[in-house]
Amino acid sequence: MKFFTLFLLASVSAYAEPDWPAIETRALDLLQRYIRIKSINPPADSREAAALFKAELEKAGLEPRLYASGPGGQTNLLVRLKGRDSSKKPLLLLNHFDVVPVDPQRWPVDPFGGVIKDGWIWGRGTLDMKGVGVAHLTALVTLKREGIVPARDIVMLSTPDEETGGERGVQWMLANHWSELNPEYVLDEGGMGARDVLAPGKLVFGIAVGEKQMLWLKLTATGAAGHGSQPIPDNANNILMDALRKALDQPATGKRNPVVAEMSATLGEFSANKFTAAIQRNTISLTTLRSGVGDPPKANVIPSIAEATLDCRLLPGANADEFVSELKARINDSRVKVERLSSPTDAGESSSRTPLFETIRRVIAQHHPGAVVTPMLAPYGTDSVHLRKRGIPAYGFIPMLLNLETISTMHSDAERIPVDQFHKAIRIFYDVLRSEY
Ligand SMILES: [Zn+2]
Repeated sequence: MKFFTLFLLASVSAYAEPDWPAIETRALDLLQRYIRIKSINPPADSREAAALFKAELEKAGLEPRLYASGPGGQTNLLVRLKGRDSSKKPLLLLNHFDVVPVDPQRWPVDPFGGVIKDGWIWGRGTLDMKGVGVAHLTALVTLKREGIVPARDIVMLSTPDEETGGERGVQWMLANHWSELNPEYVLDEGGMGARDVLAPGKLVFGIAVGEKQMLWLKLTATGAAGHGSQPIPDNANNILMDALRKALDQPATGKRNPVVAEMSATLGEFSANKFTAAIQRNTISLTTLRSGVGDPPKANVIPSIAEATLDCRLLPGANADEFVSELKARINDSRVKVERLSSPTDAGESSSRTPLFETIRRVIAQHHPGAVVTPMLAPYGTDSVHLRKRGIPAYGFIPMLLNLETISTMHSDAERIPVDQFHKAIRIFYDVLRSEY
């Protein structure tokens, strides 16, 4: 029996397995070169990143196309691998070229160096989302090189400006090149695998099926200017502080989101952390404060204006107008103006009852035995919202096992991913893409 099993395994692997060590080496090298391209947004110039991807795809015999979508070098890349059944709509792999800026002083390594150290690859974008982009590309290229024709067409779209809302990226492509996309499903960033993060003691892979709505507000307090030596009650800073205290003191209201309810039915009690807190309610972060007269601002002048911005994230189904009226009612001060800086999109949730979701569930179980797979609500925004708005199921899926500290490096300092998880992500995407779904 043992001999037979060994023989069977050996013959199957000799027949079917690509040369993974060589593929992984090549992918890691590509990721290093990709990190070294400073595709910071703003300005979202993605020409160099697009050229890097284009060359790699062409070496495998694929035919990527580039679409310039703005005057600042904003460039989208689209590539298609033909599937067996042309009557089926494609699966879209969606990733973005752009990264958020860095504060290099706070990094232990060069954020654009592509440094590999102690089993980790460091750099801005490793997690969000150059690592996944290279894993998408490598899985696609490996299918092509192995001569595997997928069940349906697979299209990969890499966009230049996800970090500022996708106006020149996904939104522009949907508006101008819909016929080349028109997907059945979308795989994007979003959820990931982690132990303890969603539920204590549990290894959970969250697949994002929805995300919170992004509502940015600006508060402007107007008071009287004056000499710092003589305090006055209508000091704009005091008015603003008072308004902020009332704005941030949110009542715990809002109905339970169905995805969060399903998560809690699957996982039991949630872990207590900022991530699980954020997906269970509407949230407000105070993100900027600005006031003072002169540059640098004078310490002895009371300014007449003080400003703040709030990054509010609403659960799907929450009404932004009601949220703003309630916030204004709490502040209840005519000296404070509340303006909207963003228009939130409520795209609802994608169904997790699809063949693709089941395929993802099965593949994760093969690579991470014992892991629980659950649909998840993402607290942050992604390009998927624009696809969900069109009724297309979009799943946010970073197939890496990460800890909370690593997840927290997204948009922060010392962003990094474990090299072995990057490699594993390639294998998971490859196994999903070559399945029937
Ligand atoms: Zn991202």
